[in-house]
Amino acid sequence: MAGIYLHIPYCRSKCHYCDFYATSNMSSIEKLVESEKRELIARKQYIGNEIVETIYFGGGTPSVLSAFQVKALLEVINANFIVALDCEITLEANPEDLAEPYLTALRLAGINRMSIGIQSFNNEMLSYLGRGHDNSKLVNKIRAVQKAGIGNISIDLIYGIPGLSLDNYSDSLKEAMNLGIQHISAYSLIIEKNTFFYNLYKTNRLKEAPDDDVVAQFNMTIDTLASFGFSHYEVSSFALEGFKSRHNSSYWEGKKYLGVGPSAHSFDGISRQWNVSSIKNYILNIEGDKNYFEIEILSEVDRYNEYLLVGLRTAKGISKHYVSEHFNSKINSYFLKELSKLNSEEFISVVDDRVKLTRKGIFVSDLIIRTLFFS
Ligand code: SF4
Repeated sequence: MAGIYLHIPYCRSKCHYCDFYATSNMSSIEKLVESEKRELIARKQYIGNEIVETIYFGGGTPSVLSAFQVKALLEVINANFIVALDCEITLEANPEDLAEPYLTALRLAGINRMSIGIQSFNNEMLSYLGRGHDNSKLVNKIRAVQKAGIGNISIDLIYGIPGLSLDNYSDSLKEAMNLGIQHISAYSLIIEKNTFFYNLYKTNRLKEAPDDDVVAQFNMTIDTLASFGFSHYEVSSFALEGFKSRHNSSYWEGKKYLGVGPSAHSFDGISRQWNVSSIKNYILNIEGDKNYFEIEILSEVDRYNEYLLVGLRTAKGISKHYVSEHFNSKINSYFLKELSKLNSEEFISVVDDRVKLTRKGIFVSDLIIRTLFFS
């Protein structure tokens, strides 16, 4: 069982909080699509005879692709890989791209899940975040996706935005719940380096939201979504029964995936590969049959740290038995010692074999995971 990720590093404009590598110059799109087709064919042995269960167009903004380009990439995948009949095929999209004819063409091309970067239903917040859409058309955009026959919809929301009140955030959650969507990814705003927000922050023109507000908004997310039947299955992910992201879950379960496109990562359980991030160099190297990726063989310590990093973010957590079976006694002793400290501080719950973050632990998940890392 495996997944394929296609990276589309273009955005119509740069959001104020985003540090992803993406360009608004779309002149190379056609060449990029051709290069990704070539990479798919060249690397089909990476997946071999395993069944492809998920395909994910991520970015950047994959909805800058035409439906014809999406279809062409999927045709190459279908011709070169064994694709499951019920393969989950997701395309990330920005609301402004969601016109009905485009959505119908995407569905006919094979897209059966959309992940839409809504971020907020509050116009003031959308403008503050530098998003290219406003609230007035959002409901119609989601309805258009549903009308096109794509019935598995995820939206992204951001909380912890400076100036976002609990009431405003509550309104956004309620609006989301009225849309009949199946999945929400909710993220706390982080001021990342190399962003517009970071420049404001460094020059004292932006203050981070108070911790109490962030915690209250996260708690509100969990409680509100639970009351609408959404399970909290990963730190930032909430889904109705049967609608967990199969693609993201495969990352957290350590399954094999092939990533194509600039800066895309691939993982096969033994090694991790990452492609060159520059679009220009990626295309030139693919066209010239030159190397376009680096590879790292994972050590035992890397694999242990990876297991914690992905497993502890999920509601299923990690297994003590797995750690003792797969890693040496030094790592296992360190793990058990740190675990007992975190358990006594109520960041971790240990029930039989399973180790999970408590709600208190989720707020400091990065710190907890770093504490358990072995170096
Ligand atoms: S948040 Fe999404 S749309 Fe905005 S710049 Fe980043 S990748 Fe592009």
